[in-house]
Amino acid sequence: MKLLKELFKIYSPSGNEKKMRKFIRWWLKNNVPEAITKTDDFGNIYVVKGEAENYPCLCAHLDQVQRTHSKDFEAIETKDYIFGFSRKNKRQEGLGADDKVGVWVNLKCLKKFDQCKAMFFVSEEVGCVGSGKCDMTFFDDCRFVIQCDRRNGDDLITTIGGWTNLCSPGFIKAIQPELFGYKEESGLITDVGELKERGLKVSAINLSCGYYEPHTDREFVIKSEVVNCLAFVEHIITTCTDVYPHEDDDYYFGRHGWGDDTWEEEYEEAYQCIECDLLNHPRLTTEQILNAYRGYFFSLKEADLRQIIEEIKNINFIDDDDDTGMRLLPNHETGMGEKNEGIEAAIL
Ligand SMILES: [Zn+2]
Repeated sequence: MKLLKELFKIYSPSGNEKKMRKFIRWWLKNNVPEAITKTDDFGNIYVVKGEAENYPCLCAHLDQVQRTHSKDFEAIETKDYIFGFSRKNKRQEGLGADDKVGVWVNLKCLKKFDQCKAMFFVSEEVGCVGSGKCDMTFFDDCRFVIQCDRRNGDDLITTIGGWTNLCSPGFIKAIQPELFGYKEESGLITDVGELKERGLKVSAINLSCGYYEPHTDREFVIKSEVVNCLAFVEHIITTCTDVYPHEDDDYYFGRHGWGDDTWEEEYEEAYQCIECDLLNHPRLTTEQILNAYRGYFFSLKEADLRQIIEEIKNINFIDDDDDTGMRLLPNHETGMGEKNEGIEAAIL
């Protein structure tokens, strides 16, 4: 967990990921000297290790949402958890485990496997900026793409927003999620969704990697789930040595739409998607949802999306938020209250 705790200490807000980039390049130079690293004009890092006809490929994002990260920030490790803390300010602070756990998984796998590709994206949290601009030819010789960028410990994300399929049924079967306790779920827009949107031709997934309360100062990780995620990824890399092609025909109705959807049709479509997201994740902030859907519907303006979100929140009695992503609502749907009490006890 030493490397993970080092990553947690690096403050890496969206648009200012320089320190994180520097650390990754330094770490690779010292620990995986044979890896070839390239950074593009946007700040995305591409890594290739070994020579192969095709590669397993991992991706993670470099940025974090939290706005507070004191100079004396510490990542405190207890038997089961890691959380961030400032002694001077006597408060818990977010780790940026979303997505530093993903960064950690990438680095561990680059070290372990002789042939592996990895990609580190800038500014996922403000609309998948890095994955929206990266060089897609990097993925031409990839077998599949795995991202570890999901809260909880057991979600295997195979569709985004309920309509963009990320991977083939054959790939889901091949990775044997049941061995590691993972179950299929639908997720929100993230880098692998953006890559599919841009025409990625192989299967992709997004995995839970053991962080909770992302984007808040109460963020923490459950160590056993972080470790289980890494074991699952290593299992996939070891056992899935084929190429797993996948192209989704259905997703084109959105951003690249057929162009003949009316405003009403798009409104209805957006309503259904956002309702599904909110019922599954009532603590999503309006900004997070807007980030996920911005630009997806030709004829909907941001005001339309805001109206949809507000209406769904009203109908379902979901508390509105202050849109900073920092507001801490009670842990009603996840039963996480108990776990947080553990953390509070550890702080005291
Ligand atoms: Zn993330």
